[in-house]
Formats: sequence, structure tokens, C-alpha cells
Amino acid sequence: MVLIRCPHCGEDVELEDGVFGLFACPYCDEEFNYESGISSGLNATMKVGFGLLFGSIIAILLGFILLNGAINGFTDSAESTECDKGPWIDSLIDPPECSSDGDWGLGSLCGGIILILIGIGVGISAFVSLLTGQLVVIKK
Ligand SMILES: [Zn+2]
Repeated sequence: MVLIRCPHCGEDVELEDGVFGLFACPYCDEEFNYESGISSGLNATMKVGFGLLFGSIIAILLGFILLNGAINGFTDSAESTECDKGPWIDSLIDPPECSSDGDWGLGSLCGGIILILIGIGVGISAFVSLLTGQLVVIKK
């Protein structure tokens, strides 16, 4: 049961848990709306939670894109063992070995992993905020 205060006469009215809509006060017979305020509060929490979830999904996707680029970088450096044949390598500092290309792949690999970890962390916090938002409503 939940206790709410009638907006018309100020008496405490008992209602079943989870009900909402229009109710008639047993003291003054006036009708009043219940749970509109709580549901809007839930929507605000849900919005923050879903926004965080959206951000975490984008971070994880970006991380996977970076990982893909890193893997492509590795295969590129592995395939171009004859470094002098690459058209893009002429515009660079023309390194004697392909070590710089491998470093770039390693860097974006690390960046991809960090982005995925950040995305997972944000996703967990979004999950917690969604859960606590629900818990707050259940406590009420
Ligand atoms: Zn009343």
C-alpha cells in the first residue's frame, strides 16, 4: 500500500501499489490524479540511462572500428614486406623497415581497447542508473 495526500482535503488516502490514474477521495469524494509526478520522474531517469547506454554503444562501436583499422594495419604491414612498393609510403618519411606502420596499428589497437572499456564502463553506469531509477520508484 502507498499513502498519498489528497490535494483537495489533505487527508491521507491509501492506494494499492502500482496503480495510477483517477481516484475518488473517500473523505471528500473529490477526484484526483495519482502517479503522474512519479512516472515523469521515472522518464527523466530513463532518459539519462538510455542516453548513457547510447553513448556507451557509440564508444564500443568506435572501439571496434579502431580495432578493425588496427587489424587492417597489421595485415597491411605484414603484406607489404617489400616496403618500397607502397604508394603511400613514398609520401611518408620512407622508413627502411615497416616498423612505423606496425606501431600505428598497435596504437589504434590500444585506443580501440580503451574505447571499448570506456563504453563498457559507461554502459554499466547506465545500467545502474536505470536500475536505481526503478528502485526509487519501487520504494515509493
Ligand atoms: Zn479528499
